[in-house]
Amino acid sequence: MAANVDTSISEITGGCLCGSIQYTIHFNDDHPWPPKSASCQCTMCRKWTASLFPQFLTLAAKQITPDLSTYSTYKEYRSSETCLRGFCAQCGSSLLWRAEEDPDKIDVFLGTVDEKWLVEQKADVATATAQVDSESIGKTLGTPMHAQYYYENVIKGVTDFVQGGKRYLTHPSKCEGF
Ligand SMILES: [Zn+2]
Ligand SMILES: [Zn+2]
Repeated sequence: MAANVDTSISEITGGCLCGSIQYTIHFNDDHPWPPKSASCQCTMCRKWTASLFPQFLTLAAKQITPDLSTYSTYKEYRSSETCLRGFCAQCGSSLLWRAEEDPDKIDVFLGTVDEKWLVEQKADVATATAQVDSESIGKTLGTPMHAQYYYENVIKGVTDFVQGGKRYLTHPSKCEGF
């Protein structure tokens, strides 16, 4: 894959670990590339993803096909009064977060995007240096330019290294228990 295809990305794919849930995210004039990439270090996102630095893409619901609720292994956990977290009941992959009051928006967790988009070229084993081009798709997706939420939970020297995006101490949303 050429390194400078950024501007012509019309879709990326992803899915859960077992492969029973697979999705395509579409980009077009209404929802152009690149998507809004963000991170959240709240304890709920950390526990739910088992990651110290959970990252996701904030998308319009119609950008994702098919509707994940059509998969028999897709389940949702109500993590707070009005917020739901979608996952695969077969393999446990954490797929998305959504708020009931905002049905047109979905946060898709970035680690579920297929490897071919995130890693265009494997790192060199000898030097452990990734061959990252400044225009790589993985870097564009993985740089939380939109926002870094719950920075109050930052682990200095570990999760403060990711550059990009405004850092919010918590989350500027009314939905408690993000
Ligand atoms: Zn699965
Ligand atoms: Zn969170």
